Amino acid sequence: MPTGPAIDTDPALSAEYADMPLVERLGLLASGRKNAVFTTSLGIEDQVLTAALSIAAPSVRIVTLETGRLFPETLSLIADTEKRFGIAIERFRPDPDRLAAFVERYGLNGFYESVEARHACCAVRKLEPLALALEGADLWITGLRRGQSGARAGVPFAEVDGARALVKANPLADWTADDIEAFVAANDVPINPLHARGYPSIGCEPCTRAIKPGEDERAGRWWWERDEKRECGLHVADREPRPAMAAQ
Ligand code: SF4
Repeated sequence: MPTGPAIDTDPALSAEYADMPLVERLGLLASGRKNAVFTTSLGIEDQVLTAALSIAAPSVRIVTLETGRLFPETLSLIADTEKRFGIAIERFRPDPDRLAAFVERYGLNGFYESVEARHACCAVRKLEPLALALEGADLWITGLRRGQSGARAGVPFAEVDGARALVKANPLADWTADDIEAFVAANDVPINPLHARGYPSIGCEPCTRAIKPGEDERAGRWWWERDEKRECGLHVADREPRPAMAAQ
């Protein structure tokens, strides 16, 4: 079970937390944790957290899931971010045998054909590496924001992830897109050039498109699917069913 504060006394649930500057929030969150992990997709929210963690809580491990299908711009940004903040970002990659089994069964781009195939691809390329990244972690920090989509409107500052036996903290839950942009400008934070080309949310290249004016920030993710709450399974709340894991 998680070490550090219990969820009912977690600092992220205290009344003062909402009024704290980000650096203070992160320092408080990380204090007393033995193995705090921040997972970054190198999106703009995650770049804000990386910048703030490098000052507030350098003991927090920063990890990314190198799915094998990322944009070249995202891969370049990993190296640029390490250099800018003097940090090392841990890369977690898919298991080669599991990936080969997925490709054999569904085809490399089989995720366009069915939701089942898409979940199977996300399981091999993201969920399984994530499970390894979070092994033994007592705190998982994410860059989720309530304003990113209707499905994320209820994102709390902290919650128990019972399946992973840890506390999941979302210190940017109440930040707006304007807050994010202001922080980036004020702190010279490097960001993915794709954001300026209409991609507010950036995942794997074949599964991400630019959005149109008025669309949800996450409308460009798996745009061919109809489910309005579509996610890759990384951030499915305990009360919601998780996507099926990849077929064996
Ligand atoms: S986002 Fe697309 S390419 Fe990436 S893991 Fe999921 S289905 Fe596969």
